[in-house]
Amino acid sequence: HAGRVVVVGGGFGGATAAKYLKRANPAIEVILVEPAETFYTCPFSNLHLGGLRSMDEIAHGYDELQDRYGVRVIHAMAEDVDAAAHKVHLSTGSELDYDRLVLSPGIDIRWNALEGYDEAAAEKAPHAWKAGRQTETLRAQLEAMEDGGTFVMVAPENPFRCPPGPYERASLVANYLAQYKPKSKVLILDAKDNFSKQGLFMEGWEQLYGDRIEWVGLSNDGRVTRVDAERLEVETEFGTVHKADVLNVIPPQKAGWIAERAGVTDDSGWVPVKPDTFESRQVEDIYVIGDATVAAPMPKSGFCANAQAKVVAAAIAASLESRPAPEAYWTNTCYSLVGPEYGISVAGVYRVVDGAIAEVEGSGGVSPTGAPDTTRALEAQYAVGWYNAICQDTWG
Ligand code: FAD
Repeated sequence: HAGRVVVVGGGFGGATAAKYLKRANPAIEVILVEPAETFYTCPFSNLHLGGLRSMDEIAHGYDELQDRYGVRVIHAMAEDVDAAAHKVHLSTGSELDYDRLVLSPGIDIRWNALEGYDEAAAEKAPHAWKAGRQTETLRAQLEAMEDGGTFVMVAPENPFRCPPGPYERASLVANYLAQYKPKSKVLILDAKDNFSKQGLFMEGWEQLYGDRIEWVGLSNDGRVTRVDAERLEVETEFGTVHKADVLNVIPPQKAGWIAERAGVTDDSGWVPVKPDTFESRQVEDIYVIGDATVAAPMPKSGFCANAQAKVVAAAIAASLESRPAPEAYWTNTCYSLVGPEYGISVAGVYRVVDGAIAEVEGSGGVSPTGAPDTTRALEAQYAVGWYNAICQDTWG
């Protein structure tokens, strides 16, 4: 008996962890618990919003993990964790014993943290920050919008899932509007004064979209404090009311709720982990990866979730054989499409220094500013290559 590992969540972190545990040692029994039979990736969901990709083209299933790698996949929700007894309770009524538990539940929305933004409001003013039905609702609203309308996006404070995501979304919405509704605009109301790859985004916006995209940061009263989803209105800190034709609220977030049930979250709502293994700092034998964790300076990206999963798989395989975990390091690249043929990126390499995750000095960086169109076109191709490769690595 090489041990049993239960993995909760079949997204970027969980699916990768399940697969790489089996690759590390096929004798480990690996059970993946994920309610959805089809997973829609957030990466490239902005292309769907912009009318550049179908939902089918961002859909992934679990057959390969099951048939090729021997992962047992159970389509259910993990409803509770009894850490003392090493048991996970499922929505099917059954329970699973584990030797090690991996949680990769992604994010949950902090409902009502932004006044007026609850689950009902999200039907009228979608967040589309978990890909699937919300993405389709927002796309349908954008398609139904009259020419001359304003797409208003509310962007959150740090930390949140996918730091460049809102700005890629604004870009691809603007690209769609430029073609199909040329009198329309994008207004971003931001709770921050700085955002990921800001200089590169702004350079691209000016070049491709002129003044179609307006960004209002914190210092210029960009922070939204109240949402009226019924009237499609938002109010800022200093009382300015903005009326939207389509309203996309990207609200404050926290770790997926099962992390709280398992007792691994702290007051921040996120999960502190031991940096070299991503085992919970609070509960033994529970490993947490992906967006749910506090892993800064690593961003909450699919790339990082996948990289963290591989480190966890190696650490668990080692611990089940009472070997020390191998030395950990991680890489990340976040590509963003400013236009279909205009890509930019930020990359980083990370390792543990003095007990904390740190960026390796002299590594990483962002795309050059002022680069020729050919560089941007190449990076757009790399983005597609990255998407195909990571999905193959995760579910294939
Ligand atoms: P997820 O991939 O969300 O997976 C979580 C899974 O857990 C879900 O399938 C869910 O159903 C399941 N789950 C939750 N609770 C339970 C439970 N109790 N029981 C069982 N299952 C459960 N990242 C990039 O690297 N590159 C990009 O270009 C990029 N673009 C993005 C664009 C947008 C618009 C957004 C919103 C995000 C983007 N991201 C990108 C970020 C990326 O989507 C996340 O970082 C990544 O999904 C995190 O992986 P995860 O495993 O933590 O969570």
